[in-house]
Amino acid sequence: MAGPELATASTAQDQQAIRQSVRELCRDFPDAYWRKVDKHEEYPDEFVKAVTSSGYLAALIPEEYGGAGLGITEAGIILEEINRSGCNSGACHAQMYTMGTLLRHGSPEQKNRYLPAIAKGDLRLQAFAVTEANSGSEATRIETRAVKKGDKYIVNGAKIFISRAKQSDLMLLLARTTPYDEVKDKTKGISVFVVDMRNIKGKLEIQPLDMMVNHHTNSLFFEDVEVPAENLIGQEGMGFSYIIDGWNAERLLVASEAIGDGRWFIERAVNYSSSRMLFGKPLGANQGIQFPIAEAYARIEAADLMRYHACGKFDRGEKCGAEANMAKYLASEASWQAANICLTTHGGYGFARDYDVERKFRETRLLTVAPVSNNLILAFVGNKVLGMPKSY
Ligand SMILES: Cc1cc2nc3c(=O)[nH]c(=O)nc-3n(C[C@H](O)[C@H](O)[C@H](O)COP(=O)(O)OP(=O)(O)OC[C@H]3O[C@@H](n4cnc5c(N)ncnc54)[C@H](O)[C@@H]3O)c2cc1C
Repeated sequence: MAGPELATASTAQDQQAIRQSVRELCRDFPDAYWRKVDKHEEYPDEFVKAVTSSGYLAALIPEEYGGAGLGITEAGIILEEINRSGCNSGACHAQMYTMGTLLRHGSPEQKNRYLPAIAKGDLRLQAFAVTEANSGSEATRIETRAVKKGDKYIVNGAKIFISRAKQSDLMLLLARTTPYDEVKDKTKGISVFVVDMRNIKGKLEIQPLDMMVNHHTNSLFFEDVEVPAENLIGQEGMGFSYIIDGWNAERLLVASEAIGDGRWFIERAVNYSSSRMLFGKPLGANQGIQFPIAEAYARIEAADLMRYHACGKFDRGEKCGAEANMAKYLASEASWQAANICLTTHGGYGFARDYDVERKFRETRLLTVAPVSNNLILAFVGNKVLGMPKSY
């Protein structure tokens, strides 16, 4: 299928071909499939297998490791089309979110060990463990400790809201190798590890959480979990900077997903309001219905421009922190607005599971909060872009 086609994609025509091809794949996973996995809180395993074997999930892995070697623009298009088709990229997007840490900071040995197997679909890197109950958005306050003992690190602590830990083979883990109080620069003393969950030594307890969205989200408890020292990524104590390094990519991928959701909501709202007859005319002929849909559409399109602008800068290796953050903010807010309008347009049917609006409504709401909340995005723009006092 799309492997070779992906590997050479870069022109607008190639990007269109990727869109088309992702849409075709998603046709095999219609609304009823997602309704069922959502209702029963199942992992959409067949979908994830299909996206993996098509090569899409390996979009960012360089060709030398068996991936497609594409840019963030194309990776974003893949996630956008998944969400636009009514599917949920949340089932597997972390593999793309986390890739930068391994690609940019992993050793050649680590890349050879993991990337070809991930690209082939033999290994899943779908879990990323950062958040903790006591630290939340203030990630430098994490308390999970990794203490070096000989040729391994011993990990103790707890994480919260870690998605897909049971469905993934590998997990990227952020842990303190030096306690918070012992470092001057609070971003230092944090390290990042690849944890192979197929072969845990020590005790890793994974407790599923009952959440609003079907993301297979868990609390994790580490008790003397042994991580081989060779699984430390980059230098000890520098992990936070590696994660920050990947944030722009993550924000752009989230923005792309939100744009896909937004387009789905607009399409559903237009179709429904054009066919529903009330008071002798189509519902969508009323300005009270039509204008909010048109406004939401305009906002999605505006966010898309910022997304492409930021993706272009990212792929050219230019600084894009401001643009990537603004794209994430604009796209997630635009999609949430589109979700509300779509729900209103559907009236009571918007609440009926059979219409899928309420499911997508829940899914897109998440993007304003996780993986990073929009308040923190605005704090970045206020401080780093506008030079205002730091609020976080
Ligand atoms: C479904 C789901 C899946 C998730 N999956 C993962 C995962 O796989 N891995 C992972 O590591 N994490 C994951 N998370 C966690 C997510 O990244 C965090 O929930 C998010 O970063 C916010 O942290 P918090 O929940 O502790 O909120 P808090 O940090 O307690 O913040 C609460 C609210 O206050 C706001 N706030 C905080 N500080 C400020 C400030 N200075 N100024 C203004 N407002 C502020 C925040 O924006 C937020 O709205 C997931 C969360 C959810 C809901």
